[in-house]
Amino acid sequence: QPHIGVLALQGAFREHRQRLESLGARVTEVRLPADLAGLQGLVIPGGESTTIARLMTDYALRAPIRDFHAAGGALWGTCAGAILLAREIHGAPPQFGGQQDSLALMDLTVRRNAFGRQVDSFHTPLQVQGLDAPFPAVFIRAPVIERVGEGVEVLARHAGQIVLARQGRLLASSFHPELTADARLHALFLDLAAAPLPA
Ligand code: GLN
Repeated sequence: QPHIGVLALQGAFREHRQRLESLGARVTEVRLPADLAGLQGLVIPGGESTTIARLMTDYALRAPIRDFHAAGGALWGTCAGAILLAREIHGAPPQFGGQQDSLALMDLTVRRNAFGRQVDSFHTPLQVQGLDAPFPAVFIRAPVIERVGEGVEVLARHAGQIVLARQGRLLASSFHPELTADARLHALFLDLAAAPLPA
């Protein structure tokens, strides 16, 4: 059974934990670098990306998470978590001078809060590559993926905008799969995390 971590600094980490456990994974809440030991994958949940980034620095987790990935660990960022994986972030708040910290692991440009104030939250059935039936996607002040690098596979779009992408063992979703009863994307991440490393 795969051993998965959920970054538990802020945001929707309990829901991820429950969903992963319902699929048979062993789950550790990650707050300290030592919590990463022995994991095959780590979920970075939705929440508030600048808050999670600050806590990640305070808890000295940034380099250990990058090392974890370099050593073959899978990462899945949902919503704020997707922002934290991206190399480039647009729409950072003015107090950050338009710049915002991230792990910069995935070759993406994301735009924060891209669906505008009028539509803070919505849900919609999403066609996802590799799934036969649409996935019920919940978007909450969601980012969109404005650009993907070579090597990044687009797995879903909403209204023409990229909302799910994969690059090797990195997965980024604009929406919150942990807030619906559908476990298919969590199952996909478990497969990704358990897949043998390329030789
Ligand atoms: N708008 C949030 C951010 O930019 C993300 C929202 C979410 O994770 N639901 O951090």
